[in-house]
Amino acid sequence: MQTAGTRLIGLILFLVWLASPVRAGELAVSTDFPGGSAEVVEIDQRGRSITVRPAGDPQFGWPCWWYFKVTGVKPGETLTVTVDGSQLKQANGQKLSASWALPERAAFRADGTNWLQTSPGTRDGDRCCWTQQVDSGQAWFAWGPAFVPADAQTLVDQLSREHEDVTAFELCKTRAGRSVPALVVSQTDANAEDRMVIWVQARQHAWESGGSWVGRGFIEWAVSDDPLAVALREKADIYYVPIMDIDNVATGNGGKNQVPHDHNRDWSETPRWNAVQAAMKSLKQFDDQNRLVMFVDLHNPGANSKQPFFYIAPPELNTNRRKALQDAFIAVCREEMQKPLRLDRSTPSTGPKYDKRWKEISSNWVRSATREHVVGITLETCWNTPHSNPRGYMTVGRQLGRGISRYLKQDPREPRDLN
Ligand SMILES: [Zn+2]
Repeated sequence: MQTAGTRLIGLILFLVWLASPVRAGELAVSTDFPGGSAEVVEIDQRGRSITVRPAGDPQFGWPCWWYFKVTGVKPGETLTVTVDGSQLKQANGQKLSASWALPERAAFRADGTNWLQTSPGTRDGDRCCWTQQVDSGQAWFAWGPAFVPADAQTLVDQLSREHEDVTAFELCKTRAGRSVPALVVSQTDANAEDRMVIWVQARQHAWESGGSWVGRGFIEWAVSDDPLAVALREKADIYYVPIMDIDNVATGNGGKNQVPHDHNRDWSETPRWNAVQAAMKSLKQFDDQNRLVMFVDLHNPGANSKQPFFYIAPPELNTNRRKALQDAFIAVCREEMQKPLRLDRSTPSTGPKYDKRWKEISSNWVRSATREHVVGITLETCWNTPHSNPRGYMTVGRQLGRGISRYLKQDPREPRDLN
């Protein structure tokens, strides 16, 4: 039988529990961190399920990206996460297909661990629902493995600390005043003025986080002991920008087709975005020095792509020599990119029918503004497969690096037999 005293203590504990803003075991969603984006539709505490919508502002690009933190998890329990993509809109008010926001497998990270993928979710119209056992008190869920400005800064700083040939630098400040981290791998030697230059960049479209992971795989390979990496460093300076559209990555916006146009429609006489302006200036300078040989722009494509592929030069910008060099590069990449993701044989192009601002796409600008021997190309790495995670993406990046090195065994600036 309870005494009055124990009843009173029980009542006090109950009142304290009622008053605490987040009760133990009570699921809560937050997005107040770089890259965070989600609008909570419903949290079912009894069913342990969370429903959100991507919260990006269409003015800042397609709102396909979502990323949130869950606290109040009882370690070992299974959560159900549903993303409602039924209300996705473009800046002009038109509907955006929910598929852009609904990967078959969501990205998931428990406390202090790497990004993993959930099991395939269950699609119901414009919604998708995933279940995941969580073995810690908190977890993060996202459209894909996040890679935010701090990750870019940490990566360039770490590589420059660990490798004497690597120098981290700031490409520019964004319109909002954020720093755009970059690095260059360059061996100091006597013929610096003749060294080839390679430029690799990612995230002109902020939501395409996979591009940054491919880029990380590439640059970590580039400073490695792989004989092909050593050979590449001996003759080429390697420039690398992990995130071009820093502002939209930081704010959790999509970037793609933002108003008035996105980074990859900005390579014009009057670029609006500072990162594009800075990249164009450097590339032009390296080309004037006859050093630029390769420009690679890293992206994620549409939901239905299941293999990585290159967007190649449209016929309008091709010449026999340009095409032959591009074909030679793709041929070695095809040999390298076999597993786990095999390079697609199909090579679409971004000509006048693709977009009215097709000339302002970065690869097309490179193809039209630099010397004929420069290969400017876009690599789209699929995000909707069981290998579209950091490990798979970084493998593609390493394979890209090996392809670049093999292609550059012969200096493309010298005339070569193109038959
Ligand atoms: Zn893109």
